[in-house]
This record gives sequence, C-alpha cells and structure tokens, in this order.
Amino acid sequence: MSYKVLIANRGEIALRALRACRELGIKTVSVYSDADKGLKHLRFSDETVCIGPAQPSESYLNTASILSAAELTEVDAIYPGYGFLAENPEFANQCNESGFKFIGPSSETIKKMGDKITAKNFVSSYGIPTVPGYTGEIPEDESKFKNIVKEIGYPIILKATAGGGGRGMRVVETEEELINFTEITMQEAQNSFGNNKVYIEKYIQNPRHIEVQIIGDGKGNAIHLGTRDCSTQRRHQKIIEEAPAINIENESLAKILFSCTNLCKEISYEGVGTLEFLYENGNFYFIEMNTRIQVEHPVTEMITGYDIVKAQFRIALGMGIELNQDDIKFNGHAIECRINAEDPETFQPCPGQITKMHTAGGFGIRYDSHIYGGYTVPPFYDSLLAKIITQANTRKSSIKRMLSALDEFFVEGIKTNQMLHQKILNDETFIKNEHTINYLERDFNK
Ligand code: ADP
Repeated sequence: MSYKVLIANRGEIALRALRACRELGIKTVSVYSDADKGLKHLRFSDETVCIGPAQPSESYLNTASILSAAELTEVDAIYPGYGFLAENPEFANQCNESGFKFIGPSSETIKKMGDKITAKNFVSSYGIPTVPGYTGEIPEDESKFKNIVKEIGYPIILKATAGGGGRGMRVVETEEELINFTEITMQEAQNSFGNNKVYIEKYIQNPRHIEVQIIGDGKGNAIHLGTRDCSTQRRHQKIIEEAPAINIENESLAKILFSCTNLCKEISYEGVGTLEFLYENGNFYFIEMNTRIQVEHPVTEMITGYDIVKAQFRIALGMGIELNQDDIKFNGHAIECRINAEDPETFQPCPGQITKMHTAGGFGIRYDSHIYGGYTVPPFYDSLLAKIITQANTRKSSIKRMLSALDEFFVEGIKTNQMLHQKILNDETFIKNEHTINYLERDFNK
C-alpha cells in the first residue's frame, strides 16, 4: 500500500496520528509553523512542510497554505486532529474537492453538528433526549421573550449556536438579568464566532458530563465504544477524564448507547464522533456532538484495547470498522490527567522553555506528549503539554496508579497544573465519585 497523509495539526495529537500512520505503513507529511520547528513528530515524519508564521490564522488555520502543501507533496488524504480546522465544513469540502480525502465525516454532517441549534433539533428527531429549552428566534417583544423563559423556568443558560471550547455561554438566574445578559451574550457571540445567534436551555444545576464514543464506516455500520465521564472541569474545560462513566442508571445507559449508535447508522456516519450529554437524576440530556477525535480518546482505548486513531485511517482507506459491537469488551477503569502549561494560582497559560523533565511510566501507565527537555512551549497555541493515562481493574486502583505516576513526572522551567491534579486525586468527593461539573469551581478546596 502506498498511501500518504498530511497531518494538519501540531503537538501531542500530531504525534499520536504520526505513530498510528507508522504502524499502518502510511507515509506522512507533517506541516508546521515558524514557531513549531522544534516539534517532536517532525523528526519522524517522512516529509515536512512549513506552512507559515506562528499565528494560527496564518498557518494551522490557513486553508490555502495547507492545501498547497498537500498538492506539493501529493498526499492522498488530510488528517485534521482536533481544534484548528477539524470541524470546519468548508475545509472538509475544499479538501475533497481538491482531490484529498478529508479524514472525518462529510462536510454536511460537520456543518449540521457545528451549529448547536441544528444539532439539537436533528438528534432529537432520532429520539435522543436534549436539554429542555428554546431554539427559536428570540422575539423583539421583551414581554413575549420573558414569557418563553418563564415557561422553561429559571435558572437558564444562554448559549451561542456557533459556540465552542466552553465559550459563548451565560447563566441567567432571574428575569431582571434576562434582557441585558442576552444582549451581552449575542454581542460576544458575534465578536467571537461571527454569528450572534443564541438559544436557551434550562440550566441543569448539578449534572455530570457523560459522553458516548461512536464510530461509523460511512456505509451504515456503526458501533459505540462506551462512555466517558468528564465532570472534572474548570470554566467548562475538561481537566480529568475517565472511562467508563460509573454509577449510571442501567436502563438509561442502554437506551442512550442504542440511540447514539442508531443515529450513526441511520445517517451513515463516517469516522469517529462523540455525543456529549449532561446527566442528572438518571436522565441524559444531549448538549452537542463533536465530529472529530477528542483529547480524551485514550481512556476509551485503554479500556477497550481498540485504537481509535488507527480506526480513523482504516475507515478512510475503506477498510471499515473491522469489529462488531459484541467484539468490544470493557476492561477496568482508565483516567486521564491533562497536564497544562499554566500558573497553578491564576490559571494563566505559562509558555517558555522546559529546562529539565522526566516522564512517568510503568505497568498500566500511558504517556501521550510531544514535549522533551529543552523544548520551548510557544505562546501561540493551547497549553496542553502532556496527557498521563492510567488503567487498572478498578477506579480506586486507577487513581492510586495516577498518583504514583504524577509523583514521578516532573517538568522544570515552566509552571504546570500538576499539583492541582494531585489535590483532586486525593480529594474525598472525587474519590467517592460524587463530584459534578460544578464541584471544582464551587466546593473544592473549601
Ligand atoms: P462547548 O461546545 O463550548 O464545549 P457544550 O455545549 O459542550 O459547550 O458545554 C460545555 C459545558 O458547559 C458542559 O460540559 C457543562 O459543564 C456546561 N453546560 C452546557 N450546557 C449546560 C446546561 N444546559 N446546564 C448546565 N451546564 C451546562
């Protein structure tokens, strides 16, 4: 087989994709910005192409530059990873139109799921429960608007339909705040996403964030790879992820797994995807679907033994999923800690040079990272440095294994959130699995 893929990303996910390609015998082209000459995966790539200056808009988000690198190196396909152009329907379309297979679902599917209102209405037509709310036009008439919201009941959350990355959301506690907060959220949505459309959801007060990993071959076959629990969040950003989600009511779980898989079969979904839910009192409420690989995919890989990134390439090559639902067995419990380059007090990103470091290792410990001693973390991109993943027979053993791994791991020269992880993993509420999405910001440390 002579297949060549351009990896249109950077950091740990570019390295992850490169490793999968090497195992599959796929040739790789890695692109990089001026600020990223030191990235580890470039050393192992068959070819490398500089695509522009450090600013993402001029390099990793510059479709013209990426497509010309693809032409120049005559690749067969483009792998988007997560972030950057991974959920950009125009880019997916441009790749395919230019003769390069976009590794992921169709441009139409990405577009549908990228708009949260359309996505909500779409999945609910397949019997997937969504958060109660209002997705219609916001009426000009203030009293009409207030009545709509009163019906839903306060508190509510205003959400930008084009929002993402935990941004574009605002909780409204009382009617007095409604008009002003709606105007601000619309203005912010316009500035951040170029689309001022917002919708309303009931604010679920104490949910867990549970998600379902699915995979489809684009021909009507699909399976699920179970659940993840990503309730350990700060500012709606995940910090620790786990698989499987435990203490979920059996009947609701079976239903949701069935509906998610069924949706993917019905729409002939191609590639990997995640349906995200809030879960409270035995009920699931869909919030969004990500049509790409997720940062937390390793926890699912660790409990299933199924290589999700390799599967992305295999599906693109027309080899299908290769396993049936019954072949997927879930084994023990896995946890992932995201180590970020950030100040532990202020949570501000903390780029700079890593003078010295040591990775964690051992039985049941996985380490996914692009960093090394002497590497300089550039200030232009997200602050994820490393993912430490542990797997063990039980959740408790997995936590202990993680604490041991975190003790071994160290980075010098820049600040990281390593200590925060150690604190969380020693916390009673976390250990008992009693935390919800608000725990870290509301009650932890108090
Ligand atoms: P994004 O695309 O920005 O990640 P999501 O819709 O996935 O936005 O929501 C991210 C997080 O925001 C959720 O994990 C949850 O913490 C919070 N959130 C979203 N919708 C609600 C809601 N209706 N009630 C309470 N919290 C919510």
